[in-house]
Parts: sequence; C-alpha cells; structure tokens
Amino acid sequence: MLATALGSPAAFGQSQFAFVRGNAFEAKVKADGGTELLRLLVERLGGDADAPATAEVPDLTAAGPEGRAARTALALREATAAGGWALLDHPMLALEVAGSPAYLEPDAVVVHPDGTWTVVEIKSFPMIDSSADAAKVGAAARQSAVYVLALERIAAKTEGAEVAHRVLLVCPKDFSNLPTASVVDVRKQRAVTSRQLTRLTRVEDIAAALPEGTTFDPGCSPEELGTAVEAVPAAYAPECLAACELAFHCRSKARAEGAVESLGRSVRGELGGLTTVAGVLAAAAGKEGDPADPTVAALRRAAALRAEALAGVEGGVPCR
Ligand code: SF4
Repeated sequence: MLATALGSPAAFGQSQFAFVRGNAFEAKVKADGGTELLRLLVERLGGDADAPATAEVPDLTAAGPEGRAARTALALREATAAGGWALLDHPMLALEVAGSPAYLEPDAVVVHPDGTWTVVEIKSFPMIDSSADAAKVGAAARQSAVYVLALERIAAKTEGAEVAHRVLLVCPKDFSNLPTASVVDVRKQRAVTSRQLTRLTRVEDIAAALPEGTTFDPGCSPEELGTAVEAVPAAYAPECLAACELAFHCRSKARAEGAVESLGRSVRGELGGLTTVAGVLAAAAGKEGDPADPTVAALRRAAALRAEALAGVEGGVPCR
C-alpha cells in the first residue's frame, strides 16, 4: 500500500494462472491426508521407517495470526507427545524480528514419531532430471531457514522435540504435474539468518530516531510519504526487488543518485571507496582517483582493454 501511495507499486505476485496452477499442485501433493507427501519424505530422508499409511492432520483454525500461532504450538506439542506421524497443513509460526512479532506460514511441517519436526516447502518450479533452478532453490532454502528458526523457539519448550535442519522441497517432476522431492540442507542459511536477526535494529529504536510526527499512513500525500520514507536510511540492492514492496521506489532513488548499490552488492563490494557511477567512470577515464588505489588501477586497465578491443573491431582486426 505504501509503495502504491508513493507512486511506485510493487510488481509482486504471481500471474493468476501461475497462482491457480501452484495451488492445484499443492492440493495434489497434500491429497489423501498427505499420503504422497509422507511417502516422498520417508523416501528422500532415508532411514528405516516405512512410509505411514496415515498421519494425524490437526485442525489449526483459530482467530487471528496470534491465535493460529498458539494453536500451532499446541498441535506440535501434542503430536510430539503422541509419538506418531502428524502433518500440520499451513501452520502459523511466530518469530521476533527487530523486536516485533512476525507471523510465518510454511506450506507444511511434519512431526515424526521420534519427535523430529521437518519443514516442507512446496514450489511450482520444475525439478528436471532431479535438479531445479539453483537461484530458486537458494531462495526456498533461505525461506525455510526462517521457518526452522521459528520452530526452534517452540521446540525449546517441547520435551523430546528436535527441528531438522534438512527440509523437504517438493516440486513438479520434469514437465509433468507429478510431485518429486529433494532434501535441502539449510544449516548455512539458518546460521546467516540467525546472525542477521540478532543484528537488526529494533523497530522502536528506528521509530525513536524519526522526526516528531512522521507517519507512513498511505492516506497521506505522496510528497509527505516521500519525506517520511527519506527519513529512514536505506541501502538498496537489486536483491530488494524479490523481497520488498518499496524496491521500485528505492531503485529509482538509487539510480537518480547514481549510487553503485543499484548495480548489485557484489559490484558495490568490488568498487571499494567509489560510491557513485559518475565517480567510477571518472576514475576509469583517469580524471579522478588515486592511481595507487587497486580499484582505480583495475578500472583504468579495464577501460584501456575495452578501448583496445573497440579499436580492433573498428579497424577490422578480429577480437580474441
Ligand atoms: S533498501 Fe531495499 S529493503 Fe530497504 S526499503 Fe528499500 S527496497 Fe526495501
């Protein structure tokens, strides 16, 4: 809403077709009380156990996200104490982020008879010849790692419970609508996310540093909202496009300022003390910058090689 009010609506979400297709696939995976899902889980995770014919599917309905999170925690404890298989369909988990509760909804969590809890993510991108797009699998692993962290808060207060750091990723097989699955180890993503969460500035501290009367009410004029958003420091990177509704607003601002962040975090890291595109071009052209600076030297070398290559093309000498 804020992005729309600012005049830079986020182009988030799937097309209606992709949404319907994704929902139909998820329903197929979870059909018959999750029999196929549990078969895939047991098959991929190995172990001696046979796939169960049935599993408990507790009712998780409750009023509001807080009520649903409390209901989920209770269902997890009851299922662990019962010592059987249980499938929690769209549970609600709570995790404190920057001092405020955030509510998360994994596709499913499976409780094993030995008290292990496994996160299941169901995606509609295909797994072709047992492998899927690495970027999409990476995003799913980061997402699942957050669920693992949230589950660990509940497991810490549940006797006999342990959260698995290997999650089950379920996708359509090749170009069909048949489900297949792969186990993804999220230990690294869990550790990174955990570290990032402890470093986040608390929302109250950010709010306290804002000028008196600052509001993000989408009903305000775009100018007022623009001033309010400006008051909060931001560090745009192209990665924001996949995760934040303000991405288009921040990208326009970063581009208007010629900030090198708009080229990506890795490029930003390579450019050392050069923070603007104009500064980078001036350094490459030999107009600015210390020649002893390795970044400036590398830019000048790259510019010289480019000029040489272009001269070769223009002079009819083929580039190698
Ligand atoms: S910098 Fe990125 S994460 Fe921060 S508000 Fe802008 S788009 Fe969102």
